[in-house]
Amino acid sequence: AQMRESRIKKTKTVCTYCGVGCSFDVWTKDRQILKIEPQAEAPANGISTCIKGKFGWDFVNSEERITKPLIRDGNEFREAEWEEALDLIAAKFTETLKAKGPDALAFISSSKCTNEESYLMQKLARGVVGTNNVDNCSRYCQSPATMGLWRTVGYGGDSGSIEDIANAELIISIGSNTVESHPVLATRVKRSQKLHGQKVIVADIRKHDLADRADLFVQPAPGSDLVWLSAVTKYIVDQGWHDVAFLEQHVTDVEDYLKSLDSYTLDYASEVTNLSKEELIGIATSIHEANTTSVLWAMGVTQHGGGSDTSTAISNLLLVTGNYMKPGAGSYPLRGHNNVQGASDFGSMPDRFPGYQYVTDDEVRTRFEKRWGVDLPAEPGLNNHEMVDAMHDGNLNVLYLKGEDMGIVDSNLNYVQDGFEKLSFFVVQDIFFTKTAQYADVILPASPSLEKEGTFTNTERRFQRLYQVLEPLGDSKPDWKIIQEIANRLEANWTYTHPSEIMAEAASLTPLFAGVSYERLEGYNSLQWPVKEDGTDTPLLFTDGFALPGGKARLWPVEWTKPLSFDDEYDLHINNGRLLEHFHEGNMTYKSKAISRKTPNEFLEVSPELAQERGLEDGTKVKLTSPYGHVFVRCLVTDRVKGKEVYLPMNTSGEGAINYLTSSHSDKDTDTPAYKEISAKMEILEPK
Ligand code: SF4
Repeated sequence: AQMRESRIKKTKTVCTYCGVGCSFDVWTKDRQILKIEPQAEAPANGISTCIKGKFGWDFVNSEERITKPLIRDGNEFREAEWEEALDLIAAKFTETLKAKGPDALAFISSSKCTNEESYLMQKLARGVVGTNNVDNCSRYCQSPATMGLWRTVGYGGDSGSIEDIANAELIISIGSNTVESHPVLATRVKRSQKLHGQKVIVADIRKHDLADRADLFVQPAPGSDLVWLSAVTKYIVDQGWHDVAFLEQHVTDVEDYLKSLDSYTLDYASEVTNLSKEELIGIATSIHEANTTSVLWAMGVTQHGGGSDTSTAISNLLLVTGNYMKPGAGSYPLRGHNNVQGASDFGSMPDRFPGYQYVTDDEVRTRFEKRWGVDLPAEPGLNNHEMVDAMHDGNLNVLYLKGEDMGIVDSNLNYVQDGFEKLSFFVVQDIFFTKTAQYADVILPASPSLEKEGTFTNTERRFQRLYQVLEPLGDSKPDWKIIQEIANRLEANWTYTHPSEIMAEAASLTPLFAGVSYERLEGYNSLQWPVKEDGTDTPLLFTDGFALPGGKARLWPVEWTKPLSFDDEYDLHINNGRLLEHFHEGNMTYKSKAISRKTPNEFLEVSPELAQERGLEDGTKVKLTSPYGHVFVRCLVTDRVKGKEVYLPMNTSGEGAINYLTSSHSDKDTDTPAYKEISAKMEILEPK
């Protein structure tokens, strides 16, 4: 809407940072961002935002934005016009296609881009190039949570709405630094604690803000969550506290599963996890006494060698206690990026079309083939973890990556960066000259969310529209336009003039989103999938059954995978996660003045015990070395961590970037890097 001061505009957008999906009006005058004004009607946040949503936007006007295509010229890059850059890309793609076939190319989509852009990226990979080598960064965070839910309840999404979390009598938060990672969602929990006496149990190795507020805070040994979850489940069954009627009516494989719990005695769990029997019984009793329990979890669970199995154990516990199919109960895998849910929902995955339809399913593939007018590959492609190995093996030669700083956020960076060197042609599409872009042959200038239209899907499966606030800076373009131009140079003949047309096509091919349309998402209107053709959406995911055969959930036996442990040489365990102020590698937030002024650097949290033992103070500069690389960072002494646990925020692409330490070890079921299983040794470089 145009304001009285004729150049002031007020435009609705959706936050570009975390998966809570706050929406608000942005006030602008020309390119100047005047203020962020949340609206009561915003479905996920109402009138709340966090510091990032409120103050983290001036990166869009940063002088560091890329505003022209760049083409490699020896060790330098030179500016080029779009025609030249796109022609070069088309020529190189075609050359590799002819020489090596479609599977020598791969595509990585972004969870910062829109649903429509994720859809187009996988359509380009599958329908134009002919490969299923397409993935997105949910592989780095939440794929194990999705796997655990697919196994047990059929849909990989939050059971209810963010609003609904307030209805739970008991919240169990596991491996989630919710207050800093999902701030506005955490305020719902804080408010419910205060207003309705909601009980909160936190299980984490680090004493973060939510742990401070918890009714019970337990600190399991790193990577041992599956064991205490299974022991608590067994104890509940042994006491006869399980929901027999619910299991009979709605769940299969009960007997086999219950038998699989035999070894998870309190004694065994106590020994493995360091939780006392009283703590284990306390958790079980709290679940028994609450009418509704919801579990929130995040990367403290998923980023382990057994991340999918632990996520499965969470869902098993909820099923055994009948904590699904009612408000206030269920599973909440808290999604990280603003559109990490949507990037997978819209098919940027190596084995699934949009709406999680299998590429191996003939009926599904035929439907897409008919609509797209092409033959499609039936074999699943490479995920982004496998892509790195394929670069080293010489089987993957061309990579097109958008909006993802893979060269800093993937694990085992030295290995990943060496892989980039082996590519014959590498296209990076981004708003900044990222670490990854340094390895590119062509860099394409994209537009951030404020400069485009589209939809995002937040952690609660909620579609929301974003409207264009600013014109693309310089020669930059929205990602969907760039993908279309590349596709058309490969003779695709796409004619999308607006993202609404892309959504209409995706909805027509995808039962999960059948009723999604831009008209239904006008303004602050939103829809939570599944969305029926008539527009009915699904705030509570499971009402009359589960998304598995016969509408029944399935209990799934799991075994504990012992995490990698430290030895005498690499004797510190490096935990890692977010800070409130910064987002992921920090490419956007470090360029936002107000935020970087508040938190200008990364730091390493060390315990008072370790500080005493090694003579560390606030500001001491240390070198951390793992078998895979090293980082330099300054210390902060705090009792948030204990003993030989140290905590390194992941929000930096500088010399403290955590992934110089991480390995290629990954979750055995999804290939999500086991970022939380790192040990390292410490050397003091300079005292404070
Ligand atoms: Fe909301 Fe997350 Fe954005 Fe903060 S970062 S305003 S909690 S969506």
